[in-house]
Amino acid sequence: MSNFKNTETALIHGGISIDERTGAVNIPIYQTSTYKQDGLGKMRGYEYSRTGNPTREALEALIAELEGGVAGFAFGSGMAALTAVLSLLHSGDRVLISSNVYGGTFRLLSKVFDHFDITYTIADTTDLAVYESQISFDVKAVIIESPANPLMTVTDIKAVAEVSHRHGLLVIVDNTFMTPYLQKPLELGADIVVHSATKYLGGHSDVVSGLAVVNSQELAEKIAFIQNSTGGVLGPFDSFLLIRGIKTLAVRMDRHVSNAEKAAKYLSEHKAVKNVYYPGLESSQGYEINRRQAKNGGAMISFELHENYDINIFFESLELVSLAESLGGVESLVCHPASMTHASIPADIRRKVGITDGLIRLSIGIENIEDILADIEKAIAKSERK
Ligand SMILES: *Cc1c(COP(=O)(O)O)cnc(C)c1O
Repeated sequence: MSNFKNTETALIHGGISIDERTGAVNIPIYQTSTYKQDGLGKMRGYEYSRTGNPTREALEALIAELEGGVAGFAFGSGMAALTAVLSLLHSGDRVLISSNVYGGTFRLLSKVFDHFDITYTIADTTDLAVYESQISFDVKAVIIESPANPLMTVTDIKAVAEVSHRHGLLVIVDNTFMTPYLQKPLELGADIVVHSATKYLGGHSDVVSGLAVVNSQELAEKIAFIQNSTGGVLGPFDSFLLIRGIKTLAVRMDRHVSNAEKAAKYLSEHKAVKNVYYPGLESSQGYEINRRQAKNGGAMISFELHENYDINIFFESLELVSLAESLGGVESLVCHPASMTHASIPADIRRKVGITDGLIRLSIGIENIEDILADIEKAIAKSERK
């Protein structure tokens, strides 16, 4: 649990924020692989940096405090964090995943864990009765994203956690899109939170990293063992960059969200736009649920243009907003889920879950919103088929 009442303060002072030896207000980058021992069995708390590193530990304590968990773990990427968490499962086990998840999560289950006879089912986490009917005897865990990537589908985390726990499932929430500043899944009943910290937590598109936080001592011991055994740890310099990024999360997020709310309103009133997916719009699918479980709708927006607009020309005409994978950095990014972030999902499944070839996903940055919208407006105008 956090020592601070308000997340804005915990972001800066949480975890281990002062170097005990020198008083430095930033934890030094302990760029070392090993530690001198004073004698056989006489360690000074550290023996080898895969097992433990003070810079990584400061980050791990920070994310545990921010998510309200028992322990945190830092990995070399979001996928490495998910791999460690899924390594809790055994052959014969099945995982439920919400119908739009990050393409890499789908690929990890369908193409890697599949080799170990750990299978998956795409579940409807937005309908509790349908969801419960999908829990067969072999289902041991569920992975939820809310809002989910890329259609921003909202899942009632508390309700799904309750149903899941009745059947003994481990509830895993990928909180990448929201961050603990906007949503705290462990408080809503999740057992494990994972992050691609590459995104909002790092916040500057300069580090690839992943985090996991667990809600019990038992899970903490298991994940610590897996982290040390499988070895996908985050290095000291990247741990430092992440701590530095997290300090400004609240101010960045506030601007990301106020920009996104304006962009969503602009898009939803635009004659060229067919659909807008943003949980902060009152007309959106999960608006009420999202309002209950999160601070606001976040800063990710997806939309579709009408058929008389050419999306290739739209993407090529953007100048300020960059066509790129990833999200959550200070700069605005746009992507085409069907051919980029979700290309690893087969076309028939993509169509079934609503990821159309015309879908455009925006990560709204913290630039001046008038500049962002002017860039989008110009690209829409150029892409109209005459
Ligand atoms: C990017 C992303 C991941 C994967 O994280 P990496 O850091 O790229 O390995 C997982 N989940 C979501 C929601 C993501 O956006």
